[in-house]
Amino acid sequence: MEHNRVPMVAGNWKMNGDQDLVNQFSKELKTQALSCAVVICPPSVYLPLFSDHDFSLGAQNVSHLQNGAHTGELSVSMLKEVGADYVIVGHSERRESQQESSKLVAQKAKNAVEGGLTPIVCVGEPLNIREQETVEPYIAEQLKALTELLSVDAMKQCVIAYEPIWAIGTGKTATPQQAQEVHAFIRRTLNAHAEELGEGIRLLYGGSVKADNAKQLFSQPDVDGGLIGGASLKVEDFIAICRAAN
Ligand code: PEP
Repeated sequence: MEHNRVPMVAGNWKMNGDQDLVNQFSKELKTQALSCAVVICPPSVYLPLFSDHDFSLGAQNVSHLQNGAHTGELSVSMLKEVGADYVIVGHSERRESQQESSKLVAQKAKNAVEGGLTPIVCVGEPLNIREQETVEPYIAEQLKALTELLSVDAMKQCVIAYEPIWAIGTGKTATPQQAQEVHAFIRRTLNAHAEELGEGIRLLYGGSVKADNAKQLFSQPDVDGGLIGGASLKVEDFIAICRAAN
């Protein structure tokens, strides 16, 4: 089926980086002719420090609430005000360490869309689920929470990142075939929810993507780019990964 999904590479700095790295990325990426969409997600305090850049910015989390007495939280409108166009929601590190449920993740995604941020919604299975060969029902549950809460139009505004937890920060990447299988499943599931919904949605792969494995992963028909952790902290590695998505 025809589609015009422009590939995307998003970097998740996690709790890393500093003003120096902000400056490096702003300067170095400008000299590159990259044809994929590029998103950098630094710690939110650095968002307003990217003064002159030619890529998009994203946050790594957002509150599901609008405003009020919620110490330490940041709202969609605040993130937008300091330059974010994207926000990662449901990263497995937050699902695990902050006990974020799929329902809460869906609420965050919904608020993000309503407030004008594009959510990058992370889904992905832990190792025991892969070993039990129950990946598809596991991912289907995570997607169901989204499709139950978001309208089809809101779903169309989302990016989905498949990030098998066993591949995150471990150096153990999914094979291109494993990634393709799950991406194709996600697309089929979205298509079953609403006609052709899956065809227009960007599906990123995340989990130990490096300059030397990116090309193979990104050349799979249902892989539209990547969400990059560790390798997004070195500008030359990140640029090489972006080139693999061109
Ligand atoms: C991530 O945390 O989103 C990620 C993909 O990390 P890494 O690339 O380091 O595995």
